[in-house]
Amino acid sequence: MSDNAGANETDLISLSLDMLSKKWNIHPIIRDLHVGKRTDLQDYQIKVNQVTFHIPYIIDHSLFLLWQCLWPDCHNCCTRQGRLPLTVDDIAKISKNLGYKNRSDFLKKETYIATWDNNSVNNSDNSKLISTLTMINLKRKSDEIERDNGTPLPCRFLNDHGSCTLHPEKPGVCWLYPFFSWSQFENNRMVVHASFQLTGDCPGFYLSSDIGEDMEKILDEYSKKIYDYTMNINTTMRDGFGRIDLID
Ligand code: SF4
Ligand code: SF4
Repeated sequence: MSDNAGANETDLISLSLDMLSKKWNIHPIIRDLHVGKRTDLQDYQIKVNQVTFHIPYIIDHSLFLLWQCLWPDCHNCCTRQGRLPLTVDDIAKISKNLGYKNRSDFLKKETYIATWDNNSVNNSDNSKLISTLTMINLKRKSDEIERDNGTPLPCRFLNDHGSCTLHPEKPGVCWLYPFFSWSQFENNRMVVHASFQLTGDCPGFYLSSDIGEDMEKILDEYSKKIYDYTMNINTTMRDGFGRIDLID
């Protein structure tokens, strides 16, 4: 979940993959996909419940890129967490979970505001969307400040057994990973899309010639989380708890 925006995005992903390769076997095709080296890609779209998933399909090998979580053997997304932006729902849930009676105390002590550039590719037309996001973030270490935002850090809520001490009231972004989502108006209605974050931090990706039942179950489970999270993000922006400025 490291921050890969910026000029040396590919270098950062390569570095993350090198670290990942010390423990996990990363298929060369999957490595190439992370660093954007493959040109034989097709955007395979599959609508599950209210979410349109964009699954990369490698044309020359007739393979899909799929995913399953390897927890408890892996908790890399918690040891290399890049940031924890919060929705209004997250703020309500987590402040209560941490025992705060007063939400403003929670915001003062446990969070900070950060602004960062976000580069994402709209898979439906392959256009690049660059935006600047300003959001309230949960501190991953007790003395975290804006300068740390985007730097991979072990999250303070990860315990010695590899479990999240906030679970199940953890931030929406943690539920979502390794997907990312966006919403857009299509035919006058809001449509939610999702795809994989290929940041080099997750060893759970694999290749298969068909999507298969296991992945279908995951897409079904995640479609609900992704839809709710994306709606929460929209509410967060509307309520003034975050801001997105489109710059390209
Ligand atoms: S890094 Fe990937 S495989 Fe590991 S715990 Fe996170 S989502 Fe699961
Ligand atoms: S809040 Fe929990 S799930 Fe999220 S990064 Fe921290 S330990 Fe992991």
